[in-house]
Amino acid sequence: MRSETSNETRLREDICRFGRSLFERGLTPGSSGNISVKIDDGGWLVTPTNASLGFLDPAKLSRLDRGGRLVSGDAPTKEVPLHAALYDTRGSARAIVHLHSTHSVALTMLPEIDPRAALPPMTAYYLMKCGATALVPYYRPGDPAVADAIKGLAGKYSSVLLANHGPVVAGDTLEAAVFATEELEETAKLYLLLRGMNPRYLSPEQVTDLVKVFGVALPEQGHQ
Ligand SMILES: [Zn+2]
Repeated sequence: MRSETSNETRLREDICRFGRSLFERGLTPGSSGNISVKIDDGGWLVTPTNASLGFLDPAKLSRLDRGGRLVSGDAPTKEVPLHAALYDTRGSARAIVHLHSTHSVALTMLPEIDPRAALPPMTAYYLMKCGATALVPYYRPGDPAVADAIKGLAGKYSSVLLANHGPVVAGDTLEAAVFATEELEETAKLYLLLRGMNPRYLSPEQVTDLVKVFGVALPEQGHQ
């Protein structure tokens, strides 16, 4: 039992440390964005409602049981259904990061975006960390209907963009989810920088090579 307790203490500190880092670099403003991490008993830790990721208190994080009920801490973010849906469909996910990061949000409003491959294969690291990224339609924040949209992706995507809202990214660890979210934001920034300039993306052969060498998992419809 001692190891579980110290593990939870470490996870609480990690959520606050990564949250502060994301906030201080301008990756999610004000009290936007939220982070969750699964704990060993099947429950999870999640950032509270109206909390800035820059100023989180480890002791006040919301602790939910495996059914999503609040066990201790402040009331959880109203975007819990978003996290729950991604956990439900991505069995290996242990952490989820959701931000209102500027370039990723901007990308969702462009008319040409393919909802099954929101970004072209621009860099190797984007493919390795994010795979393909899905785009789901706009929902009011906290609308439980967003869960159905996420479930409709059938767990094929670890990175999802919510239209006019922001990215939500799952990872095997909190660090992996944070790094993938950062990679998504930087790739969205590259896309916007190059839009209309006829850039040269990775070729299908180069993508196939990455899939082979690094085991990149791409949904069937992504990056054709
Ligand atoms: Zn949000």
